[in-house]
Amino acid sequence: MRPIYLDNNATTRTSPDVVAAMLPFFSEQFGNASSTHAFGSEVAGVVRDARRHVQALLGAAHDHEVIFTSGGTESDNTALLSALEAQPERNQIVTTAVEHPAILSFAAYLRQTRGVEVTMIGVDGNGRLDIDAYRTALGPQTAVASVMWANNETGTIYPVEELAGYAHEAGALFHTDAVQAAGKIPIDLSSSAIDMLSLSGHKLHGPKGIGALYVRKGVKFKPLLRGGRQERGRRAGTENVPAIAGLGKAAEIAAAGIAEEQTRVRSLRDRLEQGVLQQIGGSMVIGGREERLPNTSSITFEFLDSEAILHKLEQAGIAASSGSACASGSMEPSHVLRAMNVPATSLQGAIRFSLSRENTPQDIDRVLNVLPGIISHLQSMSPLWRERHEAGSSAQGSSGGAAHVFAQS
Ligand SMILES: *Cc1c(COP(=O)(O)O)cnc(C)c1O
Repeated sequence: MRPIYLDNNATTRTSPDVVAAMLPFFSEQFGNASSTHAFGSEVAGVVRDARRHVQALLGAAHDHEVIFTSGGTESDNTALLSALEAQPERNQIVTTAVEHPAILSFAAYLRQTRGVEVTMIGVDGNGRLDIDAYRTALGPQTAVASVMWANNETGTIYPVEELAGYAHEAGALFHTDAVQAAGKIPIDLSSSAIDMLSLSGHKLHGPKGIGALYVRKGVKFKPLLRGGRQERGRRAGTENVPAIAGLGKAAEIAAAGIAEEQTRVRSLRDRLEQGVLQQIGGSMVIGGREERLPNTSSITFEFLDSEAILHKLEQAGIAASSGSACASGSMEPSHVLRAMNVPATSLQGAIRFSLSRENTPQDIDRVLNVLPGIISHLQSMSPLWRERHEAGSSAQGSSGGAAHVFAQS
């Protein structure tokens, strides 16, 4: 049986067309894009084309607003550091409790090493940002507000355009980590207030180790990496031409399919959720129903442990995740679910299913075939579940009486 991959927010398969677009730049076209001879100008051309494809995916006004980096992490780190260094009179970062570690760890590092004030804004049970707290936190001391476009664990989408407007009222820059949004939902920066945006190749069927940082024209910028004059002096280091060519191809493919794929993937995701909620007691979908990425579903199973569920799923040939890939393997509950105040009885049992354009209706059928059995088996071994649900009745089974949607919006 073909294994089913439902962990696309951790990484995606590099599409075969992307691999094909990369290959020549490992062999015949090996030149350095900065060289003035033909070997160089050949590859300079592909870097330019790739930049235009990323520009088009983002709806950016100018191609030189796109800087190639080594990925989402570098883009996120660079954005925060640049905002601070370009505005030495401002010493505060405003961000959220649900960001990726590429923002949260780096902000913590800046606090420890530079005394930067880091203000973390909380979210409600739907994952929605406390906008009043966000507005209150912004002030003349704020260098940058950084809020992700969409959350990697729950898929919650944040109102980044509105948030960018508030940041500007305080004279601050606005950055968004759009690693999970880019390629999945439309982005149009042509008339946007967003100053900086991060994306990553391997989250949109491109290669790993390549990404981009969008910096709106006119925004003051300080590089993280210093050395050669690559990327107009904004990111030193010989260009990773094969990966840049791959990212360009991935952006081109994603942009062409975004409208159709959004709808297709959303209907698969919704069928998965409906099936689970109907068939499995004690299951809850985490996050608001509306403002969510079409591909992401975080479902938690009361009184169960996600590691045990994942293990059984894996035996059935299904790969999912317990949340952020960086946190799995440790028994720490996810910082995102904790910030959402997910009830303690459901905190350990969260499974993230993240789909991609490669998933089929048959994949969802398979999950719906095996998951109810896995969960009822684990529930039958969970003393807490049995205490709560079997006392005096037989709540077990597929009646779905206990299923509910947590925090429906
Ligand atoms: C994966 C991810 C990153 C990190 O990107 P890399 O290219 O793996 O460094 C940052 N932010 C979010 C939201 C992500 O999902």
